[in-house]
Amino acid sequence: MDERLNYLTIDQLNQIPWLVHGFGLAGFILSDLEKDVRLNSFQPVEMSQQHSAKVFFLEDKPGHKLSGDGLVTATPDLLLLIKTADCLPLFLVDTEHQAVAAVHCGWRGTYQKISVKAFELMQQKLGSRAQNILAALGPCIEQSCYEVGGDVYEMFSQAGFPLSSIFLTARKHDKFYLDLRAANFWLLTAVLSIPEKNIFQINLCTFCRGELLSYRRERVKSQRLINFIGIKNLA
Ligand SMILES: [Zn+2]
Repeated sequence: MDERLNYLTIDQLNQIPWLVHGFGLAGFILSDLEKDVRLNSFQPVEMSQQHSAKVFFLEDKPGHKLSGDGLVTATPDLLLLIKTADCLPLFLVDTEHQAVAAVHCGWRGTYQKISVKAFELMQQKLGSRAQNILAALGPCIEQSCYEVGGDVYEMFSQAGFPLSSIFLTARKHDKFYLDLRAANFWLLTAVLSIPEKNIFQINLCTFCRGELLSYRRERVKSQRLINFIGIKNLA
C-alpha cells in the first residue's frame, strides 16, 4: 500500500503501466483531481449513485450524469469515480483487454450482485475472462462495526449467499453484522471464478479510521471518499 497524502493505492496495480487508481482519504475532493499531475489529463465520470445494480459501458464521457452504481470502460482518459462513506469501492482490471470497472458496493448493490453484473458487462463487450481479471477492494465499514437488520439478512439468504461466512449473528438479540468485503469476495471467487491471488484488499474500516469518512460515524450525507480508476493514454 502506498501512503500518499491524498489516496491509497495497491502496489500490484501500480505496476501496470497503463493504469491509474486510488482510494481517496478524507479531505481528497473532486477538485483535487485537477491538481494531481497524474490525473489532470483525465475526464472524470461521476454518477448519481442509487444503491442499484446498474452498470454502464462507456465509450466516451457521457453527455449527462448517469444514474447507477457501476462503470466499465476500455477507453483511455476517462476517470471512473465511485464515492463512498462506508460502502465498498471495488475495481476490476482486465489485463488482457486493457479495461477497467469501478463499482459501488453497499449492501443493496452487493445482494443484487453488482460486481457480477460489472464483470458480465466486460465479458459481453470485450470478451473478458476471469483468469485475467485483477480485483481491488478498498476501505469500507468492517463487519464488527456494521450491524444490519434481519430484513437484510433475509435478502442475502434469498440471493443465495453463504450466510455463515458473511454474517456474524447474535440471534438472541436478533442482531446481524454484515461483512461486505467477504460477500463481494465470495461473488468474485465463487460466482465468477476470479483467482484469489488476483484479488487485493485495503483492510481499513471507514468507521474506525479517522483518515477515512463514515456515514455511520459522521451522519453527513454530503461527505464522500473519492475513489478512481482509469486507463492512461500512452499514445
Ligand atoms: Zn470499524
